[in-house]
Amino acid sequence: MADRLPKQSEDFPGWYVEVVKRAELAEHGPARGSMIIRPYGFAIWENIQRALDDRFKATGHENFYFPLLIPMHLLAAEAQHVEGFKLQAAVVTQGGGETLDEPLVIRPTSEAVIWPTYARWIQSYRDLPLLYNQWCNVLRWEMRTRLFLRTSEFLWQEGHTAHATREEAWDEALRMLEVYREVAEDVLGIPVIPGRKSESERFPGADETLPIEAMMRDAKALQCGTSHFLGQNFAKAYDVKFLNPEGRQEYAWGTSWGFTTRMIGGTIMAHGDDKGLRLPPAIAPIQVVIVPIYRSDEERSAVLDVAGKLRDDLAGNGVRAKLDDRDQHRPGYKFGEWELKGVPVRVELGPRDVEAGQVVLVDRVTGDKRSVSLAEATSGMAGTLDEVQLALFEDARAYRDENTHQIDDFDSFAAGVEEKGGFWVGPWCGSPECEEKVSAATKASLRVLPLEREDPRGPCIVCGKPGTERAIWARAY
Ligand SMILES: [Zn+2]
Repeated sequence: MADRLPKQSEDFPGWYVEVVKRAELAEHGPARGSMIIRPYGFAIWENIQRALDDRFKATGHENFYFPLLIPMHLLAAEAQHVEGFKLQAAVVTQGGGETLDEPLVIRPTSEAVIWPTYARWIQSYRDLPLLYNQWCNVLRWEMRTRLFLRTSEFLWQEGHTAHATREEAWDEALRMLEVYREVAEDVLGIPVIPGRKSESERFPGADETLPIEAMMRDAKALQCGTSHFLGQNFAKAYDVKFLNPEGRQEYAWGTSWGFTTRMIGGTIMAHGDDKGLRLPPAIAPIQVVIVPIYRSDEERSAVLDVAGKLRDDLAGNGVRAKLDDRDQHRPGYKFGEWELKGVPVRVELGPRDVEAGQVVLVDRVTGDKRSVSLAEATSGMAGTLDEVQLALFEDARAYRDENTHQIDDFDSFAAGVEEKGGFWVGPWCGSPECEEKVSAATKASLRVLPLEREDPRGPCIVCGKPGTERAIWARAY
C-alpha cells in the first residue's frame, strides 16, 4: 500500500476523500459537481437498490419512468416547490442549434412532471391509490461538492403516490419511512432516528417531511432518507381531482419519498475506521475474500486447488466470495487492500492449513482470527456474516449513544456542540425564531422531532417559554 490513510481522529474529511479514492468507489467527473461511480462503488449501490426495491414491491409499489426534462411552466405551477428549487435548477435553453421557445428544467425531482400526468390517470376513487416509484438521476446545482454526499447529479429512487384520503396518504408516508428505517438499520447497519422535520427544514411543497437521521463517526448528523406527506398541495397545483363514492369531486392526497447514493457516503462514514472501509455484509460486493498463501509452485497448486473449491462451495451457499489468486502481490499486500475495501471476512489458507483441513477466518470488524475446519468455513459462513453485520450495527449504536447529550442550558449546549459535536436533546417551544437563533449561535440544525410528541420536560432552551417538543440538534452534513 502507498502511504497510510489519514487518521479519522486527526482529519476526518481527509480520511473520507482518501478512502473513496483508494477503495476505488468514485471520482470527480470532468464537469464541476459531477461524479464517476466506479464498479466497486456501483456494486454497493446495486445491493442497496435491490434491498429497497424488494421492499417497495412487497408493499405494493410498481416502477415506472418519467422524462429527464420538464417544461418550465410545469415546475412553476406549485409556488413553494419552484421557490425551493429555483437556485438549484439547471435549465436547458438551447437545442438543435436554436433557442427554445420554452426553457426545459433538468429534473431536480419529478413531482412537477408526474402530478400533471396523474391528473389524466386519476378520474375516480376507483383509480386510487397510485403506488409508483422510479429509479433515476436528478440534478441540483452545487458548488461545494463532496463525492456521494453532495454532488450536482446523483442517483436515487423517488416514490410518488396518490390516495383518496388524508389517512391513507399519511399511512403511506409512515410506511415508507419504516421501509427506510429497516433498510438503514438491517441492511446498512446504521442506527437511525425516524421522526419529523421542523417547518423550516421541510421539502418545498410538503405538509410534513419525515426523515431518518443518523450519526457519522465524526459525531455529525446525516439525513439518510426522507418521506414526505404532500397533503393536497400538488393535487391542487396540477388539478388532480377524482370523483368520490358519493359522486363529489375531491383533490387527491399525495406522498413522495427518496433515498439516494448519498447513503454510500453515509455507510462509509458510519462504519469506516483507520484502515479504511468496513462494509456491512448485506451490501458488500465481496463478502468473503480468500487469500492463498504459498511459496513454491507445488504449494501453490495444492493451496489453490482447495481455495478454488472453497470459493465454489461458498458461492453455492449464496455467499459473494472471491479468490484473490494474483501472483504479483504478496499476501500481506492483499490483506491491506481488502481491509481498505472493507471486505467483511478474510479467509487465509496456506499449505499447513490444507494438510490440516482447516482455514483461518479474520473478521474485519473486530480483527479477530480463528481457525475452523473447511466444512465449517462453508456451512458456518452465513452465520459469521450475520455476526459481522450485527457487530457493525452495535458498534455504530454505541458510538451514537456515547455522543448523545441532554441539554441542561443553552451555553453548555453551544460549547458542547463546538467542542465535541454529537446529538443534543432538549425542550423547544416550536417557534422558528428560536430555531434560527440556535442555528446562528451553534451552526447546529434541528435534525429531528419525535414522530409522536413527547413531554418536553422543561422550558424552551432558547426563550424559556413552555416547551412543546423535544428536539434533537446537531451539526450536519
Ligand atoms: Zn423558544
